[in-house]
Amino acid sequence: MKPVIPFVPEANSHEKDVWQRDLANALEAFAVVKHVSDLTDRERSGAKVAIVANPDPADVAALPNLVWVQSLWAGVERLMTELPPDGPRIVRLADPQMAETMSEAVLAWTLYLHRDMPRYRMQQRQAVWQEHFLKTPAERTVGVLGLGKLGSASAQRLSANGFTVLGWSRSEKDLAGIKCFGGPQGLIPVLEQSDILVVLTPLTAETRGMLGAAEFEYCKKNAALINFARGPIIDVDALRAALDRDQLSHAVLDVFDEEPLPPESPLWQHDKITVLPHISAPTITSTASKIVADHIRQFLTEGTIPDHVDRNRGY
Ligand code: NAP
Repeated sequence: MKPVIPFVPEANSHEKDVWQRDLANALEAFAVVKHVSDLTDRERSGAKVAIVANPDPADVAALPNLVWVQSLWAGVERLMTELPPDGPRIVRLADPQMAETMSEAVLAWTLYLHRDMPRYRMQQRQAVWQEHFLKTPAERTVGVLGLGKLGSASAQRLSANGFTVLGWSRSEKDLAGIKCFGGPQGLIPVLEQSDILVVLTPLTAETRGMLGAAEFEYCKKNAALINFARGPIIDVDALRAALDRDQLSHAVLDVFDEEPLPPESPLWQHDKITVLPHISAPTITSTASKIVADHIRQFLTEGTIPDHVDRNRGY
């Protein structure tokens, strides 16, 4: 008999049927995927691994013998806070296709800022015909904060497109063509030199509020910001203040403290903010399901648990 793998999606997710179909197809040779609500008591107690997507913690707690959970998302800050510290190990989704998609988004919105699109859009609204000085990509320095799976792919794609790229991470990296900085002291030189900053760090105790009034002061006058990571990494009130006094020129925000962004949020109407509805790198069910299936097959056949998050480090 094939082992049963519980699937524990977010309660109100309308995508759960697509996921359940793609996961079942990817796993069908060696396991059966069952929605958590359809499990028998025996299946609940027998489950060593579950597939989760922003699950209700009570649904995970009802699987008492879990050794690890496979998240369908790359960001797992909610799981980290909602599952007990001695709970199952958390494996986040690391999909090369997602890194490709994110690097495409970073390039697209960097070009949007590089080619002054927000400014020309404003000019159109006011019927203003005015050309602005054009820099080459090499004359534009882009600082990528976070050089993990998504940040390093994005930094490399920017570099391949001619931008001057700086990168920053906890431990200093060695990436061809990219000047890398590491540790808390490495952030300031990146802020000081970047025309465009791209945020791709995870949300942890250390990165919550990482960019606020003091950090914006270090930025170049009229620098722009792209946040494709998580909303609370940026102090949004400080960001608005920095935009309002022209310390920063524009912010592209894909992620927010509260999502969906409430209709009454002043961010929607701010001329110097581009609001995106968390679309920079959605999980692609077809490729992600194959990665999840590989992880589960290796666990079932060899007992291997994939790389999992470090609960102390927070990612
Ligand atoms: P990752 O592979 O875990 O990489 C995280 C990077 O951030 C690493 O380079 C890490 O440094 C660095 N970092 C962590 N804490 C730091 C700190 N305190 N100071 C400096 N650097 C720090 O993560 P990933 O797969 O690239 O994903 C990054 C984030 O993107 C996710 O956590 C998620 O929140 C977000 N995301 C957003 C979307 C979207 O659609 N908007 C989609 C997917 C993911 P080290 O290299 O030294 O460890």
